Amino acid sequence: MIEKRQFYINGAWVDPAAPRDMDVIDPATEDTCAVISLGDQADTDAAVAAAKTAFPGWAALEMSERIALLKNLSKIYKERRDDMAEAMRLEMGAPVDLATNGQWGAGAWHMAGFLEALADFEAETPYKEVDRTRLEPIGVCALITPWNWPMNQVVLKVFPALAVGCTVVLKPSEIAPLSSLLFAEMVHDAGIPAGVFNLVNGDGVGVGSQLSAHPDVDMVSFTGSTRAGIAISKAAADTLKRVSLELGGKGANIVFADADEKAVKRGVQHCMNNTGQSCNAPTRMLVERDRYAQAVEEAKATAEATQVGPTSESGRHIGPVVSEAQFNKIQGLIEVGIKEGATLLAGGLGRPEGVNKGYYVRPTVFADVTPDMTIYREEIFGPVLAMSPFDSEEEAISMANDTVYGLTNYIQSGDDAKRLRVARAVRSGMVETNGVGRQNGSPFGGYKQSGNGREGGLWGIEEFCEVKAISGCPWE
Ligand code: NAD
Repeated sequence: MIEKRQFYINGAWVDPAAPRDMDVIDPATEDTCAVISLGDQADTDAAVAAAKTAFPGWAALEMSERIALLKNLSKIYKERRDDMAEAMRLEMGAPVDLATNGQWGAGAWHMAGFLEALADFEAETPYKEVDRTRLEPIGVCALITPWNWPMNQVVLKVFPALAVGCTVVLKPSEIAPLSSLLFAEMVHDAGIPAGVFNLVNGDGVGVGSQLSAHPDVDMVSFTGSTRAGIAISKAAADTLKRVSLELGGKGANIVFADADEKAVKRGVQHCMNNTGQSCNAPTRMLVERDRYAQAVEEAKATAEATQVGPTSESGRHIGPVVSEAQFNKIQGLIEVGIKEGATLLAGGLGRPEGVNKGYYVRPTVFADVTPDMTIYREEIFGPVLAMSPFDSEEEAISMANDTVYGLTNYIQSGDDAKRLRVARAVRSGMVETNGVGRQNGSPFGGYKQSGNGREGGLWGIEEFCEVKAISGCPWE
């Protein structure tokens, strides 16, 4: 049993002020794999105080000095790849190959993207030759992260914040804290000075709300549910701190009749990736009517071919969902889909055949889903796809936009002009077309209730900055 009750505050591992244990459950076995402690106000205050004290010295360093330390961190992250993958396998149920490649790799990919973007980052630039515009670190940042892509989200926040000179308190998901505890060890070994990076474990109502309301926190950067994003915004309002939000999604994947032959299969596999636990998953497949009957058959076959299996075994199978609560939530939504009259094509209620332990869900596809149905509207966060037909480009755009979310939409068509036209018309922060992924460092973030922040690359770096305009100090 892993025991990790301490927090990382001011460059040292310290005991919680008032120990309160929480079990970390391995979703593949339902067994307790670790125990952590949940922090309280005294721990939050200590971490914020350390970050506040460290801020002036860290911000005053040359950018190149901070980048050199972040390069150390990046090197250690690469050296400890297997340890990091194992932590994520245990805490959130990513099968070993996904943990070692996709999950670990997302962190490495963002580190590389930031290091590349930082090479072009100018903190001070001339404005109309006589003024100067300066980007300065905003100060102490609370970073609150979820469990679904643990290192992806931690790196997207920690790296740019530290690079520009902010100091941080990280509160990872209490459900998946092991990877972040390991990340804190790496920060320490990289030689990042005491107080610059701090970690306190805790739940949302405790440390999460304490950080959001804290008068000495200048910014909260949050990724997770829209529900928690609203709570954080309200808690932060009294101190008018900046709140940057990456929230849920209900992405449409618009498949036109002229899409390539692999479009449907690719869309189903993308939806099931990480067991459906991605905010940017293409969970609503909208198919042009001429292609719909064929698409339904292809989607059914793809879902049925999707293997579900243990996290300890190598392979391309999907693992369990993260927790009993998520398992129950997904089961409830599958049940509602059936009751509301959607056609169940594949999967359905209960665990996959032969599985009686672990939070494993059957890869599920519903067809003939109409916009009034719950499964068309709610983020399910499991391997569940909803398919609907459309008759025209206008209808596809209107159906894609008929959601409170606006994170990523997807378009499949062989017509370049149509793809671009539709990409411009859908209301989302990101649009991916024909299965081409976005480039490293391109801005990640949403419209509407998917949030207001942008992460990655230069946009993600500027997110952690204040803008200062200076006059009367001419640019030489
Ligand atoms: P959550 O939003 O409740 O938790 C994410 C993080 O926020 C955790 O660190 C949690 O401790 C913290 N938190 C929760 N409530 C808070 C509060 N009031 N103040 C401050 N911090 C708070 O997510 P969850 O319960 O783990 O998952 C629930 C749903 O959220 C999922 O079903 C899914 O729909 C969605 N989700 C979305 C993302 C995403 O990337 N968009 C990630 C995880 C979960």
